Amino acid sequence: MDTYDVVIIGGGPAGLNAALYAVRKELSVALISTDIGGQMLLTGEIENYLGFPSISGFELADKMEAHVRAYPVKMIAAGVKTLEKDGNGVFHVSLDDGNHLQGKSCIVTAGKKSRTLDIPGEKEYTGRGVSYCATCDGPFYRGKTVAVVGGGDSAVQAAIELSMICEKVYLLVRSRIRAAEIVVKRLKERDNVEILMKYILVSVQGDKKITSIIVRNQNDQSEKELSIGGVFIEVGGIPNNSYLPGDVHTNDGGEIITDKEGKTNIAGLFAAGDVTDCKNKQIIIAAGEGAAAALAAHEYLLRHEE
Ligand SMILES: Cc1cc2nc3c(=O)[nH]c(=O)nc-3n(C[C@H](O)[C@H](O)[C@H](O)COP(=O)(O)OP(=O)(O)OC[C@H]3O[C@@H](n4cnc5c(N)ncnc54)[C@H](O)[C@@H]3O)c2cc1C
Repeated sequence: MDTYDVVIIGGGPAGLNAALYAVRKELSVALISTDIGGQMLLTGEIENYLGFPSISGFELADKMEAHVRAYPVKMIAAGVKTLEKDGNGVFHVSLDDGNHLQGKSCIVTAGKKSRTLDIPGEKEYTGRGVSYCATCDGPFYRGKTVAVVGGGDSAVQAAIELSMICEKVYLLVRSRIRAAEIVVKRLKERDNVEILMKYILVSVQGDKKITSIIVRNQNDQSEKELSIGGVFIEVGGIPNNSYLPGDVHTNDGGEIITDKEGKTNIAGLFAAGDVTDCKNKQIIIAAGEGAAAALAAHEYLLRHEE
């Protein structure tokens, strides 16, 4: 069985940068991932990655991948099923293609996936009017009236993006808007966005495709029906952590708890990016955390081999 100095789980910005930093420390590196690029592949235009004033998610992912592939990193296209550490400090990784490999250290950078609301009609109309990615699916709703659910950065950004191509956008905010000030300012400048404060999404209706949603006012519990052609659910993410050993410390949301260097509570196990409890889920932060985790893994291996 192949044994690497570092096994990295995940091929988003955190994993790719971890691989770059680890291989440049002359470590043997395997990067296992179900895709290369992670959530960047869901992103249309990125305007906040330093050095690239405007670049598509695909292009940035391609550039990062090419940079990593210039070095001898073993890239493995597979999903990780289980991760275990044995009594000798070796990490055993089993893959969904039946293969196994080992690492003297491991960096988890498996990111997150979109959270669902579990309301009537949501599952039934996913792909037929219910979407979790405004950037990916927005163009299908050109000229229509749509709703966005959520009050965070991604919901507000989605509402702004959609308002540029849709006739009207409702933004349903359950409690309060938690987005950057400059983004909220831009939102309020859009005259085709109606913000429904203290509203939740109750259900989704339609025939072949979605035709309307029922929303409820949290203050007086009154409900109303809105005719819409699409609803974008932007209410955060669930970390991809199903393969983690049970003794890894996570927060209530299942995010891996790390220190500033990416160390977890397990010696030799590091984590970086959106799968962790880092507050801000952004590409440059994930990439930076990936670098920090790789450097911490390098230091761990030096001490471990003394
Ligand atoms: C619609 C959208 C727009 C965004 N826009 C921006 C933006 O403009 N600017 C910005 O800075 N950030 C943006 N973000 C956030 C940014 O994309 C993320 O913060 C960043 O991609 C996190 O990187 P990561 O490497 O931690 O995780 P991810 O990008 O989620 O990558 C995780 C990787 O792990 C892999 N993986 C998961 N589970 C397994 C497993 N079991 N086995 C093997 N591999 C696995 C996945 O396939 C993926 O390759 C946006 C996000 C979304 C969804």
